[in-house]
Order: sequence, then structure tokens, then C-alpha cells
Amino acid sequence: MKKRQRFEYLLVILMMLALFVGSIFLTNYFFRKELLTQQEEYLQKKATLLLDQLSPEVFTQQAFTSQEKTLVDHYLTDENERLSLMNNTGDIFYDSVDTRLHDSRKNRPEIKAVLSGADFGSALRKSATLNKELLYLALPVKKNGDLVGIIRMSEETTQFSSSIQSFKRYILLTLGILFIIITGFVFVLLQQKNEPLVTVLPVLKKIVKYPDEARSIIQDSPEWNELYQTVNLISQQMSQTYLAYTSTEEQFHALLDELMIGVFIIDVEGKLQLVNPKMLDILNIQPDAVGKDYFDVIEEPALIHLIHQVITEKTTLHQEISLAESLNETILDMSLRFIEENGNNYQVLGIAYDLTRVRQLEKMQKDFVSNVSHELKTPVTSLLGFTETLLDGAKDDPETLTQFLQIMEKDALRLQQLIQEILQLSRDGKNITYDDQIIELFPFTEEILRSYRKTIKEKNLTIQISGSKHITYTTKYELFYPIAKNLIENAVQYSQIDETITIDFGFTDRFYFMVKDTGIGISQEDQERIFERFYRVDKARSRHSGGTGLGLSIVQNYTELLGGKVTIDSHLGLGTTFTVYLPKK
Ligand code: ADP
Repeated sequence: MKKRQRFEYLLVILMMLALFVGSIFLTNYFFRKELLTQQEEYLQKKATLLLDQLSPEVFTQQAFTSQEKTLVDHYLTDENERLSLMNNTGDIFYDSVDTRLHDSRKNRPEIKAVLSGADFGSALRKSATLNKELLYLALPVKKNGDLVGIIRMSEETTQFSSSIQSFKRYILLTLGILFIIITGFVFVLLQQKNEPLVTVLPVLKKIVKYPDEARSIIQDSPEWNELYQTVNLISQQMSQTYLAYTSTEEQFHALLDELMIGVFIIDVEGKLQLVNPKMLDILNIQPDAVGKDYFDVIEEPALIHLIHQVITEKTTLHQEISLAESLNETILDMSLRFIEENGNNYQVLGIAYDLTRVRQLEKMQKDFVSNVSHELKTPVTSLLGFTETLLDGAKDDPETLTQFLQIMEKDALRLQQLIQEILQLSRDGKNITYDDQIIELFPFTEEILRSYRKTIKEKNLTIQISGSKHITYTTKYELFYPIAKNLIENAVQYSQIDETITIDFGFTDRFYFMVKDTGIGISQEDQERIFERFYRVDKARSRHSGGTGLGLSIVQNYTELLGGKVTIDSHLGLGTTFTVYLPKK
């Protein structure tokens, strides 16, 4: 039970008790008053009756005839009654209790009243003579209109007390029962009044605490039925709304978590209210940054400046920014939106799209195009030059004609090779589907070597094929052939006279194809760049030997398309080993 309810019940009990006690007092008072009035009337009647039988001379002479004396002595019927006769100044000359008593009673209130001319005087007090509470009643005795004496009748009030007591008890009982009934009734009313508090309040509290759970009040109460049903309905709707809200919220957060675009929200106090994982990653912020000031957390001055500008100008900005070196020189497409809410409330929504890769690809594409044009320009210029010279008359000299045509053929072949390799590079393995073929590696390698037998012979190279003659590997021939061909071609190209080339293949946990030479080798610095398109360590030498700078790019590209990787182990002047690892089928 609540404190307030307990207080209410206590107040009702106290009020009822006060009313009960008050009613007892009032009843007692009025009842006693009524009794005293009746007793007064009784004494008055009795005194008047006696007076009628006594001559006024008794008072003037203060003496009785024998007949009067007998009447007076036997007049009293009850031992609790007392009779006093006084002269006109209030001095007692006869008293039924104490015959020797002759004192003055003129100061007693009832006597005073009579002496001052009242029709009667009455008083309730303790008798000094009897030491009991008595009701006194005094009547004037008059002769020819003059006061000649006073007759006083008194009676003990306790004589009535037993009847008062029994009446009191009766009243008390009746009132007691009445008040118990009223109190009970008030309690029932209070209980009814508080019923919704006791029933509904805990349910409402639970609805607030666990909004996802629907709760029902099951109470058979006609008075509050509508209220209970409404609360049940609210509870149901609340849980449905909450579940819908949380699932939307979950979806929203899942979306934010998975989003490849960085999102943050800054609140009116400049604190980060929300940051999704991608934004944490882009700006290199810790997940505990939420709730902190944005300028303490974001390290990029350019971005802080933009946010500040958006807040002060209440505007929207969309701009590309390059982050500092510490943030990997990321290029961001940054959009900042000032969202005004009620009053002075606002939020800043930041959306960042990482453009670094896009810009890199664009640059690569540009470089590639300019490299291609540059590479194509040389043979085309040469071809044009010789064609012009021939047309200008050189064609008439058969010797020059042959020599020029041979050079032109070489240029055309180079153009053909360049175009072929560019086409190979631009081929996207995902778009073209090649079928797997079983490749017998030994004859496959011999076949490639045959294309270079002239150079091999010229350089007197020793070729060792250490792979087993019967090994086969199933893969996409169209991709695997250029890999092997380019590696073997390079080994032949970059080997010097009398050197050895070893070709090995087989299976460990993967399939490997290794080409090892004892040629010029590649420096550590160049090893990092040789897979780039058109990169050549020694441009003149490479071009002279027919190289385009695309061979290793093709090797790496195709190896990746086949799900493998290329490794290089090379030392200047000692030789180079390229190994291609491909998945086992
Ligand atoms: P290229 O057509 O010029 O050979 P590649 O892409 O095949 O182009 O090779 C890039 C560069 O790497 C070559 O220009 C050469 O300098 C170097 N290179 C490749 N293979 C070897 C090797 N086996 N030994 C030494 N240098 C090599």
C-alpha cells in the first residue's frame, strides 16, 4: 500500500474516532442537562407542596407548631434528599441533615438569586456539609409580597448516575456500532477509489520499463472496467509500436554498419551523436568517440573547418577534400548538411564517400592511355618516316627499298605485338569464360621454348626442365599460356651468354610454375615496380630486345584471374626466379 493511501486510512480512523468521542460528550452533556432540569422541576414541585402546608409564620418566627414539625421531619421520602429552611436573610433555622446547623447561606448562588428577587434559584455543587454533589433549589417564601424566608430542597445527583451510566452504555454501543459501520463504509469507498491506483499504476510502470511486453489487467470490476480495458489496449499498442520501432532501429543500424559510405551526426552541443563504422575507418576515429566534441576527435583540420562553416552559415556543403598523410591521403567526397530542428536545436549530418580508389583508377587509366599513345607513337612515326622517304624516291633504289621495308616490317610487328598485349591486358577474365583444359606441362614448356630457339642458340643458353614429364595441370589455357610464355621470354631476354635457365613445375599444397635464370637480376627498388604496366628497368635495352613493359603486368593480371599469385626472388648480377602459384584443382 502506498504511503498516501495509508495516510488516508489513518485520517479516516482518526476523524471517525474524534467524531465518536465528540458525539459521546455531546450526548452525555445534553442528557445530563435534561436530567438536571427534570430533577430541578421535581425539587421545585416538592418544595412548593411543602410550602403550601406551612404557614409563613414558621419563617418569620423560625418556629414550628408540633403538627408542622412532624410534617417537616417526615416530609422527605428519600435519605438522599435534604431540606433547609432559612429566614429572609439566608440564615438556616432548620436543616434535615444537621439540626444544629444555623449558619448563613446567603452567599450560596441559589440563595443569592432568591435574595435578589428571583422566582427561584438553583445550583449544582458539592455540599460542604455532606461532601457530595447536590442539586440545590431555593424558593422564596412571601407574605403580603414580602420575602419572609427561603425554602431550599436539595438532592444528590448521583442518585441518577446509575440510570445515566446504563443510558451512556447504550448510547456508546449504538454510536460505536454506527461509527464502525460508517468507517467500514468509508474504507470500502476509499478502497474503490484507490483500486485503479493499486491495479493500474504497477502495470503502467511495467509498460514504461518493458515497453516490448504487452500486459493485461484481469479484474472483475464494473466501475473501472473501461479504464482497465483502455490500459490493456494501450499496453498492446505500445508493445507493437515499440517492436516496430526497435526493428526499424535495428535495420537502420545494420544498414549504417554495412554502408560503404561514412556517416556522422553532430548535435547542437558539437558532440558526435552517431558515427558509423565506415566513417570511423575513414577518419581513423575510435568507437568511443561518440559523445565527445567533434573537434577533439576529428584530426583533419580541413574537415573541422568545413563543419564549422556549415554550423555558422547554417548551410549545406558538398566538396571533395583530401585528407592528411596520417589519414592515408584519402580523397573524400564530403557532403555536410545543416538540419534545423525546433527552436535553436540543430544537427549536422556528414556523409563521406571514399573516392581514393576511384581517383587512383582514373589516374591509372590516364597513365595507361598516355603510355599506350607514347608506345604506339614511336613505331608509327618510324613507319611514316620511311613511307615518306620511299615515296620521295627512295623506292627506286632496290637496295634501299628492301632495307626500308625490312625496318617497316619490324615496326609493324612491334605495333602488332603492342596491340596484342594491350588487348590481352584489357581482357577481363570475369567477362570472358574460358574452359578448363588439361595441360601436359613438359611438352607445353618445350613448345614455348621452341619459339626462342634462335636466341637460345645465339646466347648459348642451357635450358633445364626439372618438372616431371608426366605432370598435368588443369586450367584455363588462354590465361596460363601468356603467363608461362612471358616468364620464359624474359628469362631468355635477360640472360647473358652461356647462362642457364631452369624451369620447374609440380605440386606442393598448390601448383607451382617456376622460371629461374642466372641473368642480370633486378634491383630491390625495381622489383617493386616491374609489375606496373609499361615499366621497364632499362627502357632502351628492353625496347631493343622487343620488350613492351607489359609482359609482367599480364603475368600478374592473369595469375590473379586464376586465383593465384606471383613471387619474385632476384639479386642484381646473380639472376632472377619468378614463381607462379595457382590453386590445386
Ligand atoms: P618487357 O617487355 O620490357 O620485358 P616486362 O613487363 O616483361 O616488360 O618486364 C618489365 C621489366 O622487368 C623489364 O623491362 C626488365 O627490365 C625487368 N625484367 C623482367 N624479367 C626479368 C628477368 N628475368 N631478369 C631481369 N630483368 C627482368
